[in-house]
Amino acid sequence: MKVMKFGGSSLTDANSMLGVGEIIASDQEPKVIVVSAVQGVTDSIVSFVSKTRKDEEVETFVSQLKERHMAILGGVVNALDVKQRAIDLLLERLAKLEKVLYGISYLEELTPRSLDLVQSFGERLSVILVAAMLQDMGLNATPIDADDLGIVAVGPYGNAVADLQETRRNIAPKLIAMLSRQEVPVITGFFGRTKEGHVAVFGRNGSDYSASVIANAIGAQVLEIWKDVDGFMSVDPKFVPEAVTIENLSYDEAAELSYFGAKVLHPRTVEPAREKNITIKVKNVFKPEKEGTTIRPSGVERAGTIKSISYMKDMAVIKVYGAGAAHKFGILSSISQKLSDAGINIYSIATSQTCIAMLVDKKSLERAEKALEELETGIVDRIESIDDIALLCVVGEGLGYRKGIAARVFTAVSKEGVSVGMISAGASMVAYHFTVDAKDLQKTIRAVHDEFFGGKHE
Ligand code: ASP
Ligand code: MG
Repeated sequence: MKVMKFGGSSLTDANSMLGVGEIIASDQEPKVIVVSAVQGVTDSIVSFVSKTRKDEEVETFVSQLKERHMAILGGVVNALDVKQRAIDLLLERLAKLEKVLYGISYLEELTPRSLDLVQSFGERLSVILVAAMLQDMGLNATPIDADDLGIVAVGPYGNAVADLQETRRNIAPKLIAMLSRQEVPVITGFFGRTKEGHVAVFGRNGSDYSASVIANAIGAQVLEIWKDVDGFMSVDPKFVPEAVTIENLSYDEAAELSYFGAKVLHPRTVEPAREKNITIKVKNVFKPEKEGTTIRPSGVERAGTIKSISYMKDMAVIKVYGAGAAHKFGILSSISQKLSDAGINIYSIATSQTCIAMLVDKKSLERAEKALEELETGIVDRIESIDDIALLCVVGEGLGYRKGIAARVFTAVSKEGVSVGMISAGASMVAYHFTVDAKDLQKTIRAVHDEFFGGKHE
């Protein structure tokens, strides 16, 4: 059994969708398909609801979505009966979307909950197209919405996680029964349903995570994530054109890279797969003959060399000063409570005798400052922040045990005249991360990549 996930970049038009169809049809194993929205659709929904809209605008928006999906359908399905059934389903979903959009515009209110509901429509439309295409190719495919199926979401709207046990209980029997009848379920990625019955999304690009949750639930051997890139790379080729594809990664390596900026996988994708030792393959939908990257529990190079460098731009450091800061009882917990109440993620933390420094997204900096100002005086003397920070993360299984790696990283950086801000080493034995000024990001990446991949030392 396998789960195959296809992203929006492979669902741009009829041609790319037919490529997806070929990949699915040429695979003989029982499989579950998970899909994202057609390219750009989620973005267009999010931006549409970001303003108050008139009735005509709602109508125009929905009819544009209809045209886009109808055009793809026309290009991927020949059989008239298959096409008609898909059109009926599309129209039904679009009518519902239109009502939701009117609701939002009349109320002039976009709550996190309604934003999640409305965002989920991209996937609700794309599954209809993919399933119809597969039916036209002779497969017994069925489009399924994740909330109807029973994927259970918990946690905040906009960034929920799945309850793996509940989800398994709800969906495994249904999917396994379908597979045993040679059916091909085509499931919406991106969202689930909360225990209260509302739609909640797993964060942008969350379909990777959905696919991993489904793979976990049915105990699949393999989870294939089909993208428009060859896999994980040694570095972003935008910065370093000589970047190479990495053939193998451990779960930890893939998780660190995904969390710290590699855009290949949604940050939480590895977790559900890891729980069941499922092999994850990242492959290029436009070059299916390429091996891509395989992420698996064992058999991974652990020599302690660096395999990949990821980065995050638009970060900020917020520093909380107070004498003996790090030793004051409960100060870390008060700080992190304040930040988590404000919905702010702390990416990294460093403490000293007088200061606690935390790395956060630049866009949440203002909220973070506000939240921390509420801390009682006496705990905090002053708060300082620095924006325009970038984070680099270097990853390699075993690097935490091997001597000299940190020295090589930081020597390479200092030769560029770049000064390093916060450093985290030792928390993860497979990664170091450190910050530099945003303006130095490119040359820092280049220097570290040259040091480990430039052939000078290895
Ligand atoms: N369609 C959603 C997004 O664009 C989820 C996904 O693509 O995985 O974020
Ligand atoms: Mg998408």
